[in-house]
Amino acid sequence: MEQRRPLPIADTSAERPALTGETLETLTANLMAHGEPAFRARQILEWLYKKRVRSWDGMTNLSKPLREWLASAYTLIPASLVSSNQAQDVTDKLLLELSDRALIETVIIRAPQDGVGINHSRKTICISTQVGCAMGCVFCASGLDGFRRNLTAGEIVAQLLAVCHQEDPHSPRADDEFASFDNIVVMGMGEPLHNYDNLLRALTILNAEWGMGFGARRVTISTSGLVPQIQRLAQEKLGFRLAISLHGATDEVRGKIMPVNKRWPLGELLPAAKAFAETHGRMLTLEFILIKDLNDSTDQATRLAAIAKDLHAHVNLIPYNTVDGLAWQRPGETRIEAFAEVLAQRSISFTLRREKGHDINAACGQLRLKAERAREGDSTDRLVP
Ligand code: SF4
Repeated sequence: MEQRRPLPIADTSAERPALTGETLETLTANLMAHGEPAFRARQILEWLYKKRVRSWDGMTNLSKPLREWLASAYTLIPASLVSSNQAQDVTDKLLLELSDRALIETVIIRAPQDGVGINHSRKTICISTQVGCAMGCVFCASGLDGFRRNLTAGEIVAQLLAVCHQEDPHSPRADDEFASFDNIVVMGMGEPLHNYDNLLRALTILNAEWGMGFGARRVTISTSGLVPQIQRLAQEKLGFRLAISLHGATDEVRGKIMPVNKRWPLGELLPAAKAFAETHGRMLTLEFILIKDLNDSTDQATRLAAIAKDLHAHVNLIPYNTVDGLAWQRPGETRIEAFAEVLAQRSISFTLRREKGHDINAACGQLRLKAERAREGDSTDRLVP
């Protein structure tokens, strides 16, 4: 009979890596280095991603010593739910705390379908990739306190598990047919392509058959316009969708609100976006936040239509959500309709987003910002805003 080495208990003084950041290959290598057979890695990942257990003890076909070693070597899920803020329009914003007490936001956006209840609506999950953001877009709450750090791959993946646990109270999960969400948009806090390697590792884990098995084409990565990273992303094997945060149809307007435009102006960004679309054969999305008296003129609409036509892109028009401490405002309804009409007349594919989550601080990063500031000013150190 095969004699196994006893599992050494890992040094817990150093910060433990997250199990959610391991690939099948790295977990297999770690387990084998500790005398476990290779097949244990698949068993463990199945507990995590298919059965979605929330504790090491839930992995009932593993020996107690192995579970103890895993608990000493890894953090199971490196994000815990602080609060869930549901809006009347069926958007649910989760505030999550990481192991260093940093706060991030993850949003569940439900789109009800005809004839089915809200529990069976299509769900899109918006995830964050950084704590804060360095891009400095002047209208955005996420960048207000600057950049703190990149999320690890494990922290990015953990957001999806937090959503699954929030949505499905049963653990371990019984019904393999139940789809927890339909799309992922990487549009939360942070510039995703500034955290390229961790993002790609996380999306690879989400895509893998031993992970969540989530199709790459149901993942949209949104960027403020980092040209070299767009070119790199175009070369990746997994064909993700790409969204460009445009928010200005000329360099003059875009440069007023997005500092990135000085480094990568439209003359460089748009050809890179076009090349990406041609490589992957999928429609791009152009995000365009409508801000009063800044980019809401019919001239901007006409220029945006020309860009969208050239790129064969879909346009998301998003009337601005006001942010505490910033003076930018949402245009009036008439002006929004006039802008949309210009796109419609030119047969541009577009969606005018009636905002989700306006009553739960839905502007990107605002919920987290309020919680951080409440925490700083609260001597009792409560977390819930
Ligand atoms: S809009 Fe996006 S890229 Fe710009 S500061 Fe906010 S999070 Fe960063």
